[in-house]
Amino acid sequence: MNQNLFAALRAAFPADGSATAIETADGPGAPLFYTWADLDAATARIANLLDSLDLPPESCVAVQVDKSVEALMLYLGVLRAGHVFLPLNTAYQASEIEYFIGNAEPAVVVCPDVAFTWVSRLAFAAGTRHVFTLNDDRTGTLLERAAFHADTHTPAEKSAGDLAAILYTSGTTGRSKGAMLSHGNLLSNAQVLKDYWGWQPDDVLIHALPIFHVHGLFVASHGALLNGSKMIWFAKYDPKAVLARFNEGTVFMGVPTLYVRLLGEAGLTRDACAPMRLFISGSAPLLIETFSTWQARTGHTILERYGMSETIMLTSNPCQPEGGERRGGTVGFPLPGVGVRIHDDAGEAVAAGEIGHIQVRGPNVFSGYWRMPEKTKEEFTADGWFKTGDVGKIDADGYVTIVGRSKDLVITGGYNVYPAEVEGVINELPGVAESAVIGVPHPDFGEGVVAVVVPRAGAKVMPEAIIAALKGRIANFKVPKAVFITPELPRNTMGKVQKNGLRQQHGACFD
Ligand code: ATP
Ligand code: MG
Repeated sequence: MNQNLFAALRAAFPADGSATAIETADGPGAPLFYTWADLDAATARIANLLDSLDLPPESCVAVQVDKSVEALMLYLGVLRAGHVFLPLNTAYQASEIEYFIGNAEPAVVVCPDVAFTWVSRLAFAAGTRHVFTLNDDRTGTLLERAAFHADTHTPAEKSAGDLAAILYTSGTTGRSKGAMLSHGNLLSNAQVLKDYWGWQPDDVLIHALPIFHVHGLFVASHGALLNGSKMIWFAKYDPKAVLARFNEGTVFMGVPTLYVRLLGEAGLTRDACAPMRLFISGSAPLLIETFSTWQARTGHTILERYGMSETIMLTSNPCQPEGGERRGGTVGFPLPGVGVRIHDDAGEAVAAGEIGHIQVRGPNVFSGYWRMPEKTKEEFTADGWFKTGDVGKIDADGYVTIVGRSKDLVITGGYNVYPAEVEGVINELPGVAESAVIGVPHPDFGEGVVAVVVPRAGAKVMPEAIIAALKGRIANFKVPKAVFITPELPRNTMGKVQKNGLRQQHGACFD
């Protein structure tokens, strides 16, 4: 049987092709209504266009375009034609794009008209044969060319292990690496989540995430497509506009900052959220305060889950009541079929509740980093588990908690300090909105603990007062030796705090 992910998604399209698959909520011409038949025809045209280019099998199609329904069609068309999709963050600038194009050597590149001159120069220099344009208003050479092609297409034959996408990691801990994901990785994860999150026949997804990342492209889009569910499609995130659609949707997925911004809306009430079934958060830690405030304001308990480019989703809080409670501060249980274990530095399993390195294996785990065989080897254990780079624990009930990334672990005077633990205590102090704890070089201790603290609106917090308040609450070696106050933490588009930047900024504070 054909294991092409597109074939499985298309098999789930509702029998009535005239039903709405996607309704745009913003962007040029909104609202636009795309039927399931439109999706089928548009992806066929793109797949036929790609076929006509006579590319080698499994050619890479690199795409840096603004979010649009057509950009999603392009992804699906690439799968349908049996090539490899490579989405790029729209925030990336020329020097970054040069790295990705140079590293991936895509056969085809798609960018907006405004970027064509510089992108095509980089692409042709890297051996790319075709550069198309796609703008967020349905114009550009890609669709112009695709329009000449037939609107039926038999999906390319694929086996589960064939490459479907290369997803570059966010580059939070160093240079981004291209994670190679197969049709089987993506489909197995999508199927597990369909069951685990109890997708219903009449679910409607409010899609307000970017589609260059696992969260928006795979978890959200696959979820709706595999369930034949309609999507209400936001090209840009506007909390007021999103909130206004909660009366038509049932499922919403967001990174924590999207929830924080929704909480800033006075209209976020129980009534406004009553029709919704499920709120899901991931990509970065959800503060306990956001989790609790959301519960109090809306009556809904956010379901937090954990994943990464290399593994798609690996743990999730339960969806159904019989699966247990959704515990704030945790990322829930390993998903069915996914193995998660915690090992110490020596490679031994730790006891329940003990902190160590989170390792994973399962049908969701990628095959390796694109053109980085050495790096790939380093990140797998001898018995075949992937080292996530995250540090955490599994408690006696089986809930997984992430306490930080191994690269962010601070070692001060020989003691390990887990940033998330210290951040949690600081965040509970009066006047504090949030914080980031980092380690920077220290002449006596190797590394010194430093906290960067964001006060609540209108509150005044003093570094000395924070240090004094922490003494007595946590062991002295965990108490920051320096505290800096800042109006906001540096974050990337997925809401991840950029600790590398903070370490650079404050790196000399103990000199
Ligand atoms: P790089 O690997 O290049 O340093 P990155 O790890 O940030 O970047 P992604 O693959 O986009 O790149 O992100 C995966 C990481 O996001 C996870 O390893 C984890 O640290 C973090 N993450 C995802 N979900 C959660 C969550 N619910 N809570 C805390 N952290 C999360
Ligand atoms: Mg990573």
